[in-house]
Amino acid sequence: MKRARASQTLRPPGFSYVEAGSAPALQLHCEAVPLERLAARHGTPLYVYSAATIRSRLRAFAQAFRAVPHTLCYSVKANSALAILRMIAGAGAGFDVVSGGELQRVLRANRKAAGKVVFSGVGKTAEEMELALRSGILLFNIESESELNMLSAVAGRLKKRAAVAIRVNPDVSAKTHPYISTGLHQHKFGVPIPEAQTLYALAARQPYLDVAGVSVHIGSQITDVGTFQEALARVAEFIRRLRREGHDIRYIDAGGGLGISYEGAEQSFEKQIAAYAKAVTQPLRGLKLHLLLEPGRSIVGAAGVLLTRVIYRKTNYRKRFLIVDAAMNDLIRPSLYSAYHEIVPVRSGAAETEITDVVGPICETGDFFARERKLPVVREGDLLAILDAGAYGSVLGSNYNTRGRAAEVLVDGARAKVIRRRESFEDQTRMEG
Ligand code: PLP
Repeated sequence: MKRARASQTLRPPGFSYVEAGSAPALQLHCEAVPLERLAARHGTPLYVYSAATIRSRLRAFAQAFRAVPHTLCYSVKANSALAILRMIAGAGAGFDVVSGGELQRVLRANRKAAGKVVFSGVGKTAEEMELALRSGILLFNIESESELNMLSAVAGRLKKRAAVAIRVNPDVSAKTHPYISTGLHQHKFGVPIPEAQTLYALAARQPYLDVAGVSVHIGSQITDVGTFQEALARVAEFIRRLRREGHDIRYIDAGGGLGISYEGAEQSFEKQIAAYAKAVTQPLRGLKLHLLLEPGRSIVGAAGVLLTRVIYRKTNYRKRFLIVDAAMNDLIRPSLYSAYHEIVPVRSGAAETEITDVVGPICETGDFFARERKLPVVREGDLLAILDAGAYGSVLGSNYNTRGRAAEVLVDGARAKVIRRRESFEDQTRMEG
């Protein structure tokens, strides 16, 4: 198998164009598997993930943070497929969960991972806390006084000590989309630092709470690493103050949020992660903390594509549309956040380009993947790959318009395994009367 020229590779090591025998076209592969073959076998729309990419991202994190004691707690919300969780647990990582359901997924994927689970989120219920306590998770990230009181009551009833961190809101602007920015005073997340101090004093008086750490998460898709540094400098100062007050702070949970490059090939993830590691660890120097990291998108985002087939070409008053068989129910990021996803033909070769919208069949104007995009000309029946769809893709899927969720395939070298079959009409209606 011959790889195409470097300029034509896309998202190595997962997705690259490969010369297709004697044909003039290049064919997009996931690792060693042609995407055309997967589409023919499993249909479209189809999520395809590269195991090699996920592994290389995990290795890059381990390498970048090797100088400090740390645990990577992959953020399950980014992609919660059991097969992916199994793989990540197998690599020795822990998990960040935000619901009892996510915790159950982790337990199903690998029961032994429970001791490396952090539980985040503003609205944990008593039932979810109970499940987490019985499972023996590592840390609860608490976001309000009411939640602290609830955890104290549940832990007391079960006679199980709960390790807690208060998630502080450092009032730092994450310079990202407003819907995924979380660290400003107007957001529902975290507790302002002065209030958090009171909560620590309150927690320390509860017999079944163990004050163990401080947590912070300022948002998602953050590419300016200076923002992390600013937030952690505020947190470091707060930790010093808490220790002076006698609290035994051992953990700093720095959250997730490292962004990826959706436009054009990523320059060098290794370089980016090195800058991120420096921004996170520098303010914590000398504090002798165990660092917890909750990356989601940066682990799985570039590891997935959404494969879709062009159903029709259409022109309205000279405006061109490619109507594809994937829709906003499969990948909602463009509709929800005006997110940009690069779209490429699976068989590359057309020299001619056109300006077109790429839209789905759902009856909403907001059902689009690209607007006024310059793309190589493709025909009805051709395949397109929507890149960087591994994070916040399938997990945000729905059945809107009674569309079954897409099937998902995990590729590892030359092997391709269906990790979620396509949802049928029967699957969708099973719970209805
Ligand atoms: N941790 C928490 C508490 C979050 O809310 C999120 C997502 O916003 C993450 C981690 C993962 O963020 P990302 O996927 O941007 O790394």
